[in-house]
Amino acid sequence: MSVAANAPDYVRAISPYQPGKPISELARELGLEEAGIVKLASNENPLGMGALARAAATEAMTEIARYPDGNGFELKAALSRRFALSAAQVVLGNGSNDVLDLVARALLGPGRDAVFSQYAFAVYPLATQSVGAKGVQVPAVNYGHDLDAMLTAITPATRVVFIANPNNPTGTFIAGEVLLAFLARVPADVLVVLDEAYTEYLDESRRYDSVAWLARFPNLLVCRTFSKAYGLAGLRVGYGLGHPEVIDLLNRVRQPFNVSSIALAAATAALDDQDFLIRSAELNRAGMARIAAAMNEMGLETIPSSGNFVTVKVGDAAGVNRRLLEQGVIVRPIAGYGMPEWLRVSIGLESENARFIDALRLALA
Ligand SMILES: *Cc1c(COP(=O)(O)O)cnc(C)c1O
Repeated sequence: MSVAANAPDYVRAISPYQPGKPISELARELGLEEAGIVKLASNENPLGMGALARAAATEAMTEIARYPDGNGFELKAALSRRFALSAAQVVLGNGSNDVLDLVARALLGPGRDAVFSQYAFAVYPLATQSVGAKGVQVPAVNYGHDLDAMLTAITPATRVVFIANPNNPTGTFIAGEVLLAFLARVPADVLVVLDEAYTEYLDESRRYDSVAWLARFPNLLVCRTFSKAYGLAGLRVGYGLGHPEVIDLLNRVRQPFNVSSIALAAATAALDDQDFLIRSAELNRAGMARIAAAMNEMGLETIPSSGNFVTVKVGDAAGVNRRLLEQGVIVRPIAGYGMPEWLRVSIGLESENARFIDALRLALA
């Protein structure tokens, strides 16, 4: 027997998460200049980080020999002020991905189920499987969540339901009143993880106040991140908002210093940078319209997206992706999600969107 052979079967069966190809990797592989490469593969903010976050991160560099505040006092205080919650209702994560993992470790395990949708964020099945729980994947409707079917999939073994709104990689959106009606029907002992990684990009008309629902639903956990609209993906910081008892559970399985001091400082500052958020959302709206129009003009189907990315049906996505890479354009193939004919493209700067559109024309020619 080898060490690897002795690992639990559920660990051996995991297929690792496939991240977007880093710019440096493509540059190495094809001998291209990094500066000439456009990466629209990981839903990153094309504006980079905001000025307030940058200043705070730079300042925090001077104290790097010290451990971070393991309780994240300042950031939790800022979040609890922002959302009118107590600090005991906030858990911080090394990215919101970490919060999803904390949920799995605290509530799941062999003999327990998590329910999520087909085409939902890949981390849900991964986090579920990594602790030996069973993932129950519910068929999607129009590439989005079928909440009625998800309710039906809940059994006495179910401990967690994961919902991404907007969803990644499909960009689909569930209206607030529909979610609220769903929550009212979920058993009180099942945690609903509402993953709102793209919520800051929503148009005013689609916004809903999930944080206010926490008062009524102690089994709700709202997860958000500084990786997307706040432009801090490389720092790894996200958070969960929920009932103090749920937050307490998550803190029990959390690493003592899971969020770095620079991440804590930058996120605290970023939270006040409303201008940067507005600029990011506006750039996204314009870029989304431009790309959607171009895809339409090329006769390509897209899934209407409420995120900072759009998914487009190109047919032979592996081949098209290769021809895009050769032109220095990185997007995300999503065959791993069971969508082998589709590519997901993040909305970039105007110039980056133009590069993508031109490269795609050539790739399809
Ligand atoms: C990007 C993303 C996240 C998490 O990102 P972090 O960088 O770990 O905060 C979570 N959920 C969805 C749906 C995402 O797309």
